[in-house]
Amino acid sequence: MDRARSTAGSSAGERMAFGRDCGQDCDQDPNQNPNQDCSRSCGQFPDLGYDLDLGQVVALIQRSGAARVGLQAPEGLKRATPLLARLISQMTGAEVIISGDPCFGACDVDMDLSREVDLMLHLGHSELGEGPINVIFLEARMRDDLLAVVQKASGILKTKRVGVATTIQHVHKLNQALQALKDHGIEGVLGPAGGRIKHPGQVLGCSYSTTRGLNVEEYLFIGTGQFHPLGIALATGKRVVVADPATGNVSEIDTDPMLRRRFGAISRAANARKFAVLVSKKPGQKRLELARRIKALGEAKGLEMFLVYLDNIEPDRLLNIGAEAAVSTACPRVALDDAAKYKIPILTPPEFEVLLGERKWVEYAFDEID
Ligand code: SF4
Repeated sequence: MDRARSTAGSSAGERMAFGRDCGQDCDQDPNQNPNQDCSRSCGQFPDLGYDLDLGQVVALIQRSGAARVGLQAPEGLKRATPLLARLISQMTGAEVIISGDPCFGACDVDMDLSREVDLMLHLGHSELGEGPINVIFLEARMRDDLLAVVQKASGILKTKRVGVATTIQHVHKLNQALQALKDHGIEGVLGPAGGRIKHPGQVLGCSYSTTRGLNVEEYLFIGTGQFHPLGIALATGKRVVVADPATGNVSEIDTDPMLRRRFGAISRAANARKFAVLVSKKPGQKRLELARRIKALGEAKGLEMFLVYLDNIEPDRLLNIGAEAAVSTACPRVALDDAAKYKIPILTPPEFEVLLGERKWVEYAFDEID
């Protein structure tokens, strides 16, 4: 098989905008109305608001001669997978197997399925770096227009040179955002790709490298939710304005509520003597060396520390293990986003260092994965 590890991106020529020209018998002409909602016109394809670039992947499957193809998608795209599997089968003759397990990111490739198939399609994320060579990352591009919300955000930006960051779903429209800023006399700056970040200006919940070292005093984050902009604010110590293309809302990030919650978690963990150090089996979340260092740090302070290896970290998995607190070396979101689900305090590694007095609270750092 040819080298298959790649991200299927914006190739021209063989490109097919999935969801608009799905190959079904249809009396609609997608070229007449490129924004038509195919789910309304034929009911065959659930319109999820994304374009999936399939043409290059179909060509790759055909060129590689793959007879068995795996299909993995995050929850937001899963509804599209049955039809996608059928189309791939029809177009390539390959057997397609859909991964039914949860998928949280490119860190979470279904390794078992990747071993069962010749080629694996991982939808919705860009590759993180090293991984199984038979996995193709197929980015999903959100159709939301950025123009209006970035124009709105320009009104509350305070400086004329701002760092711009977004998530993978919107990176293909960053030029549109930069132009909208320029029209308002603001220079938008993108940090370079590198490490687990594939595109300039892209951030992950576990990596804000593109926002560091920019000569700016504030940032514009384009996307949904609070987690990524909180990460930018804590990684840079600068003001962050959020422009949400889904709602059209513009807001400013306040890190205080989150920091108060995290201080509370560290304080509650101060009473614990038995700590589970959680290590993820997921290939892009596994930090066993860090877990060993955390274990040694705790033991040096007289705490009982034990390593726990698991796939999905969920409250039930920790019930019978007898830990009074935990340190998660897996996805930072486990401790920072899901803390309320757990009966025991769950800390990130930098927070555990604060607990032990190895790091000052004023040096609080968001947990990131290199
Ligand atoms: S580790 Fe967490 S934040 Fe990082 S890519 Fe995976 S799911 Fe996303």
